[in-house]
Amino acid sequence: MKILVQKFGGSSVADVERIKRVAERVVSYRKKGFSLVVVVSALGDTTDDLIALSEQITNAPPAREMDMLLSTGEQISCALLAMAIEKLRVRAISFTGAQVGIQTDKIHTKAKILDISGDRIRQALNEGKVVIVAGFQGVNADQDITTLGRGGSDLTAVALAKALHADLCEIYTDVEGVYTTDPRIVSNAKKLKSITYDEMLEMASLGAQVMQARSIEVAKKFDIPIHVRSSFNQEEGTMILKEADKMEDFVISGVTLNRNEAKITICDVLDKPGIAAKLFKEIAKNGVNVDTIVQNVSRTGTTDVSFTVPLADLSKAKGLMQVFTKKIKAGRIIEDRDIARVSIVGVGMKTHTGVAAKMFEALAEKKINIDMITTSEISISCIIKKKNAEKAVRSIHAKFGLG
Ligand code: ADP
Ligand code: ASP
Ligand code: MG
Repeated sequence: MKILVQKFGGSSVADVERIKRVAERVVSYRKKGFSLVVVVSALGDTTDDLIALSEQITNAPPAREMDMLLSTGEQISCALLAMAIEKLRVRAISFTGAQVGIQTDKIHTKAKILDISGDRIRQALNEGKVVIVAGFQGVNADQDITTLGRGGSDLTAVALAKALHADLCEIYTDVEGVYTTDPRIVSNAKKLKSITYDEMLEMASLGAQVMQARSIEVAKKFDIPIHVRSSFNQEEGTMILKEADKMEDFVISGVTLNRNEAKITICDVLDKPGIAAKLFKEIAKNGVNVDTIVQNVSRTGTTDVSFTVPLADLSKAKGLMQVFTKKIKAGRIIEDRDIARVSIVGVGMKTHTGVAAKMFEALAEKKINIDMITTSEISISCIIKKKNAEKAVRSIHAKFGLG
């Protein structure tokens, strides 16, 4: 029998009515003869609500306890969905990540999956049951619960598709697929029929929330096709594949926006070999991901170094820098939360010229100042002021004729 992995995001299971609708969809696929493994996220904004609860107690919660807390969200939704499916007279059983043997490393709140045994899933499928798995969680070698980073249910789904040799992995969400940009910001954004792993990975890393970046890394590594589609209708969505079939060769595939970063500037850093290496080593060994880095030209033997970090890691990075700047006798530290990253992504960039100029023109036409710029082989990012973020996305999207 063909194995199908279906993942339903938070908005698809936001309340009891929606859970019942998901149950009906799952049952309709069961009746078509598929063996079904269903991954669910927590109801609606449950994860955000749980984080807010912890913040009322402490701003530095132990990471292990954070995972104990956050993993409860998905446990609620998987049990409710199993009940809703049973109510439709189809046999179903729900499991936590630990129960199905999702083994991870010990990095709480951003754990990596090491292995999935999946024995209980295979056994339940053989018994003809629909299997529901709590997304976003696993268990480490100490038998402690871990979570897989925000949006991690996507990763659970892709990893299960790999472990069970599934025929397809479907990601059900609140939009009809992957669009040229966030359809909530640009109303004429276009749904893509297909997109390559590389482009989706770049878009996800640069802020397109629709898929978790790490899930695409795994899909790419094991060549697992993903179908992103709406849980509210039957429309075909977007296929994420090794090679997307494109009628026309668009230079760029999408525009992304990330408002969850902050900038740190270290003033008066001695301009001599080895300082930058020490600085970024200090940050890296503490698990903070640094993105765009800019170092000013030095005229007086010292320089200012700026870099961006995820907002969630800002206080940690600042704490590290406070110690480090004392050690190297640098000047003050300035933090800036008022930034946003707008990016364009597309493999066509490799073979077309003038792409960056066109992006900068789109910003200039709206009088938007660029603070920092970074490029990769298939993307260009600009750091701008947060208040200009949506205006910038609309202007760039229009400039490249993506609507
Ligand atoms: P889920 O709860 O189903 O996991 P998410 O909120 O994580 O859903 O992701 C879906 C959201 O991603 C959409 O509602 C949309 O606003 C946002 N999004 C951002 N960029 C894109 C894009 N390029 N295409 C589609 N959706 C996008
Ligand atoms: N509930 C988790 C989150 O909000 C995981 C997920 O939705 O994929 O990040
Ligand atoms: Mg998501």
